[in-house]
Amino acid sequence: MTERANDTPGVYLDYQATTPVDPRVLDAMLPWFSERFGNPHSVQHAYGRQAEAAVERAREQIAALLGAEAREIVFTSGATEANNLAVKGTARFYKERGDHIVTLATEHKCVLESCARLEREGFRVTRLPVEADGLVSLSRLEASLDDKTLLVSVMAANNEIGVLQPLAEIGKITRARGIALHTDAAQAVGKISLDVGATNIDLLSISGHKLYAPKGIGVLYVRRRPRARLEPLFDGGAQERGLRSGTVPTPLVVGLGEACAIARAEMAAESVRIKSLRDRLLTRLEVRVPGLRVNGSMTGRLSGNLNLTIPGVAAIALIEATPELAFSTGSACSSAEVEPSYVLRALGLSEADARASFRLCVGRFSTESELDFAAERLASAAERLRASPAAAE
Ligand SMILES: *Cc1c(COP(=O)(O)O)cnc(C)c1O
Repeated sequence: MTERANDTPGVYLDYQATTPVDPRVLDAMLPWFSERFGNPHSVQHAYGRQAEAAVERAREQIAALLGAEAREIVFTSGATEANNLAVKGTARFYKERGDHIVTLATEHKCVLESCARLEREGFRVTRLPVEADGLVSLSRLEASLDDKTLLVSVMAANNEIGVLQPLAEIGKITRARGIALHTDAAQAVGKISLDVGATNIDLLSISGHKLYAPKGIGVLYVRRRPRARLEPLFDGGAQERGLRSGTVPTPLVVGLGEACAIARAEMAAESVRIKSLRDRLLTRLEVRVPGLRVNGSMTGRLSGNLNLTIPGVAAIALIEATPELAFSTGSACSSAEVEPSYVLRALGLSEADARASFRLCVGRFSTESELDFAAERLASAAERLRASPAAAE
């Protein structure tokens, strides 16, 4: 993972696909798998109460990172579930009041597919285009709203291009009109400071495995004042204020709590360090690769993200030519799939340029020597591929 640049599986440059569990997070989790195994809802005995206390402590750690209250934190299995709950739950709860949802063309699939299902149920969905830098235009967003709009769902940071949407400004617009605002913050929480109070966000999704906590845990923040109301997805024991039935997984929750506490303490310094590594990588690539382009705003952007186009070099060929590096095109699309990234297409990239684009993500355990090695390998592979006529297909 770290100092082993020449070992398989290679230098890890895919922190936006998933992160390793921080060793401090793992340490915090371990006792809750074995000796402290109680069901946090079995509060008639000490095993359960011990687990319940651990869950409540984690809830506070997570709330503190968001500027929220502990009771506004609802545990889910991840951001996919949190996004489904936020989007479908809000629309279905308020269906007597309206029928319209606004989102972006560049959202994660789980938001777009939730909206598509609502459309089949009779709701209207507006999928706003983005500008060439990946950001939504506020005037366009405002113009899309009508008196039947129930929900605006706009991601905080994009998973492919890392751009940060203007949530504070969007929150002013939605709050003034009494429209619920949801944000998929899976890529943003723990990377940039997000204060739900200051930004009028009503619902916010978190994914554990994007911030050095385990896979299989997430959160939906649900505002209490003014109260965001939702129809739950699951029926059962009415855990989590009735919004998410099912036994809360104590070890995973403890891990997410610890990851949020670490992020809160270290985020500011970490993002400076990660940005300087990211910028060093970019500079080294720019020197060696003529025509290299960065996709998406370079100012409103996550500090660890690069999404690059090397015109004439297919990203899939570049990935195959550098097995000592672990990076990806950034979209869920595999080499077998025909469609290039819909996010890059929404920025106006041609199909050929979208296919020549890939994502590099720097993270907590990235080192300078790893990134120098990566820059050298990528540049050499691009030179070789450009010299060979088959590379551009
Ligand atoms: C990873 C990710 C998700 C899905 O999160 P899971 O916890 O894996 O379900 C949703 N949205 C964005 C922006 C993501 O990056």
